[in-house]
Amino acid sequence: MTPADLSFDQRHIWHPYTSMTQPLPVYPVISAHECTLKLNDGTPLVDGMSSWWAAIHGYNHPRLNQAMKQQIDSMSHVMFGGITHPPAVDLCRKLVAITPEELECVFLADSGSVAVEVAMKMALQYWQARGEKRHRFLTLGGGYHGDTTGAMSVCCPKNSMHSLWQGYLAEQIFAPAPTCRFDDEWNEHDIVPFARLMAGNRQDIAAVILEPIVQGAGGMRFYHPQWLRQIRRMCDREGILLIADEIATGFGRTGKLFACEHAGITPDILCLGKALTGGTMTLSATLTTRHVAETISDGEAGCFMHGPTFMGNPLACAVASESLSLLENNDWQQQVARIEQQLQAGLTPLAKEPLVADVRVLGAIGVVETHYPVKMAELQRFFVEQGVWIRPFGRLIYLMPPYIISTQELDKLIAAITAAVTHPEFFSQ
Ligand SMILES: *Cc1c(COP(=O)(O)O)cnc(C)c1O
Repeated sequence: MTPADLSFDQRHIWHPYTSMTQPLPVYPVISAHECTLKLNDGTPLVDGMSSWWAAIHGYNHPRLNQAMKQQIDSMSHVMFGGITHPPAVDLCRKLVAITPEELECVFLADSGSVAVEVAMKMALQYWQARGEKRHRFLTLGGGYHGDTTGAMSVCCPKNSMHSLWQGYLAEQIFAPAPTCRFDDEWNEHDIVPFARLMAGNRQDIAAVILEPIVQGAGGMRFYHPQWLRQIRRMCDREGILLIADEIATGFGRTGKLFACEHAGITPDILCLGKALTGGTMTLSATLTTRHVAETISDGEAGCFMHGPTFMGNPLACAVASESLSLLENNDWQQQVARIEQQLQAGLTPLAKEPLVADVRVLGAIGVVETHYPVKMAELQRFFVEQGVWIRPFGRLIYLMPPYIISTQELDKLIAAITAAVTHPEFFSQ
């Protein structure tokens, strides 16, 4: 990439959550292999982000590449309306097999946010079919569910620039974020406000929507499994649907294949995305029970009202299917357990640093929360100089590396964070 390419980028191309007038620097990556991103000038960076939870098998995996190449030679895409094809059937068969038994019906869509829209529409149509006007969602503070308008309405109003959209988004019901942490002793009081909100709005609530166990982009917090068990029980009692957004947590990241397993619960609707294709293509899936699917289908509309143009894209399905096989062959449990141990050992000592507020680790996720927000551009440059790719936000510096990362590579990531939190100049105090 030439300097002209970079100035074109700066002048004409939006990046995620950036300004067009004061854009943050971007780093030109020309290739990626296993756990390494290669910059234009040849600099290798050890990847600590898995491209936002997605590239669990690392980059350029020969089996994933092969699955795509093979699929391209038969067809890259064909419409899903009135047509089906082997990659979609193979993938959905696998998804039905690895998720809880009750989740039988799969809706394939283009991205995580759309999977959330689909889940919310399923819940709304379910109640419409039952002749009840229920159009609100109950959710947890500190949550994140995507950037489309339906998904935005259930994102935490505090961390998601919600005030910008007041009067435009549907008004949902927000319970205080869980304070009882994953391995704390369970505190019954933590869930009382949630229970009150559910009881007080029981006639209006179509579904509870939440990220099980790990609240990701809304703050990287890990909460107590008892939260999920109790919510499942309350939803059952009231007949309210439970939507689990496992777009970030799915496929082993938290040490279980799905985070709901930490609590032994099954949602009525499950959203999957991000790591679904091993980080190669955009694809998501929303799974639901036969009961929900049949109720919707027997309703006045007679069908579920959604159908994206690129639904069930064969190329994405083929590579997703291969990624699931790879997950199994690679013994992800062992991979994630090893990363968890190393993150525990490497990051926990940072808790005593004056700039550090908290350190937490779950599965292949390591989080260092600082007292002050990071100076993004400066800290990013420092990380690149250290030969690592870590993308902090706000007061959070975190790692979620590809599962194939080596001990040495992970040490390098941990060393870079250790160095960063001893430099006050990287934080806005
Ligand atoms: C990333 C994410 C989404 C949105 O997925 P996109 O593919 O970015 O649209 C939704 N929910 C959770 C929990 C996520 O982490």
